[in-house]
Amino acid sequence: MTSLQQNYREVCAKIREAEAAAHRENGSVHLVAVSKTFPAGDIREVYAAGARDFGENYIQEWYGKTEELADLTDIVWHVIGDVQSNKTRFVAERAHWVHTVSRLKTARRLSEQRPSEMPPLQVCIEVNIAGEPGKHGVAPEEAVALACETAKLPRLQVRGFMCVAEVGAGAEALHNQFTRMRQLLADLNAAGVAADVLSMGMSADMEAAIACGATHVRVGSAIFGKRDYSDK
Ligand SMILES: *Cc1c(COP(=O)(O)O)cnc(C)c1O
Repeated sequence: MTSLQQNYREVCAKIREAEAAAHRENGSVHLVAVSKTFPAGDIREVYAAGARDFGENYIQEWYGKTEELADLTDIVWHVIGDVQSNKTRFVAERAHWVHTVSRLKTARRLSEQRPSEMPPLQVCIEVNIAGEPGKHGVAPEEAVALACETAKLPRLQVRGFMCVAEVGAGAEALHNQFTRMRQLLADLNAAGVAADVLSMGMSADMEAAIACGATHVRVGSAIFGKRDYSDK
């Protein structure tokens, strides 16, 4: 087993432990392995250990990887970075999931560009849960309304909400942010949208997120190692 495969196994084990600690069903939390900045060969290694869901932030970089990994036909691509208007077509044509919808304009383009022969694009609304200035995502107060509007688009399926918790938040602040996310999902359900996903929790805070109801954790460095952004 390679070290990346070992890391992947350890992260899976930690997720199972966190599920048990929170009295949640075994297997109820999905792992998205965040491979941004790492080469296609690393993805192949982790894939060989059993991972199928991979998260990417930079559309250009991801484009190259989808070409290199075209033989892995059951890979599930999750876009977790900002989708600029000029990049929506490629995302609509290649992604299975987009976790980072925060504008209706982007949602409309994705729906219009989603090929009719593909299943609907699975989307989450990104929420700036702690109201941090300059951070991506819709304000918590506007999240349910945006999700309801997005849910009307024919080629998208709204699955729930995504957040990146405040960097450096203490345990109590994290708990409050993740719990507020859970409340937003309940509010969305009450508004008549049958969404079921809370995409929250990363390498440093996945246990806290799972305790608060995360269904998808997005884990990068704990699997692939420290990222090098020098060419970004
Ligand atoms: C990079 C990234 C992750 C993974 O972060 P790690 O701390 O490496 O686990 C998760 N979500 C988003 C949106 C990211 O950009």
